[in-house]
Amino acid sequence: MNAGVYLDHCATSPLRPEARAAMAAAFDVTGNPSSVHASGRAARALLEEARARVAILAGAPSAAVTFTSGGTEANVLAIRSAVAAGARRLLISAIEHDCVREAALASGVETVEVPVRPEGIIDLGALQALLDAPSAAGGPVFLALMAANNETGVIQPTREAAERVRAAGGWLHVDAVQAAGRTPVELDVLGADSLALSAHKLGGPQGIGALVAAARTRIVRDIPGGGQEHGRRAGTQNLIGAAGFGAAVEAALASPRPGPGARDAAAAAVAAAGAVVVGAAAPRLDDVLCIAIRDLPSEIQVMGLDLSGVQVSAGAACSSGKVRPSRVLEAMGLGDLAGCAIRLSGGWSTRPEDWRIAAETWIDLKTRRQSRRHPAAA
Ligand code: PLP
Repeated sequence: MNAGVYLDHCATSPLRPEARAAMAAAFDVTGNPSSVHASGRAARALLEEARARVAILAGAPSAAVTFTSGGTEANVLAIRSAVAAGARRLLISAIEHDCVREAALASGVETVEVPVRPEGIIDLGALQALLDAPSAAGGPVFLALMAANNETGVIQPTREAAERVRAAGGWLHVDAVQAAGRTPVELDVLGADSLALSAHKLGGPQGIGALVAAARTRIVRDIPGGGQEHGRRAGTQNLIGAAGFGAAVEAALASPRPGPGARDAAAAAVAAAGAVVVGAAAPRLDDVLCIAIRDLPSEIQVMGLDLSGVQVSAGAACSSGKVRPSRVLEAMGLGDLAGCAIRLSGGWSTRPEDWRIAAETWIDLKTRRQSRRHPAAA
């Protein structure tokens, strides 16, 4: 048993010390950011400092940043804004997070899933065909395409998609919740008109995120009430959360990225022991590894690793705890293997040896399970 390896940063990252310190300091700021007195102005200054940091991450002016309760609300707000702008058909990639899919399906507007190729990348040919076939309902085109997938780490060609969507006069929304802090997520780098971010995936606190929108993109006023967030989202802001978010973003931007070496070595070790590395043929985030092995259900792997001190996820982060085959992996054509996949994801606090320990622990678990099933062969 090892001292404990946490490879579940895609579910949530540990709080960075910088974020903790910023939040502790923010507890002593009493004012409401909307109040005009000195305490209110101090709170406003703190909020705007955090907003400016998030804006740098997104390569946008501060005014483009709307704080939300997290990535989920940011994605939902983008979809509702597209519908309010007249979109009568929502295109979403087949591997979007549940919050995107559910919001689109609940919108009352025709929703079409754009398939992905077996390696997990959106099928740009299929996207083009959908863009070329005008919707009977009319209205501007909207596409939701995530920057990197939360289960496989596969990076999506958002720029290429953006060119096609823009040529059709449309709006590309990018869920950058997993990519932020791992790869550049500036609006123009991604080609995005709007961007969803979440603090807790990059070492900030849970319960705060942002929707960042280019000037040409109008965000609808979804929550009625006061005029906070440029009138786009009512309700007194989560000042402590924003302070932690801003500090986490700043720390993430300042930290060197370790590269894929340790992850790749772990991938090679488990592949040699029989694992399928999902999305291996595609560009992926450096510290995400999705593996599958026949006849070893995801939950057995997750529980077995946990008993040995290695914490990972099965399927999507937000559906951890529920046992159902991954929709993303099914969309990639993995069939039965989709129920036998796990995700290991590192982040700012991960040490190279965590990957080695995780791989060794997985190989040990797999060998023990197989020898139990086939005692004679062991
Ligand atoms: N989008 C992606 C790709 C995610 O992985 C997640 C969470 O796992 C979300 C959105 C939701 O973010 P939040 O937990 O901040 O609501």
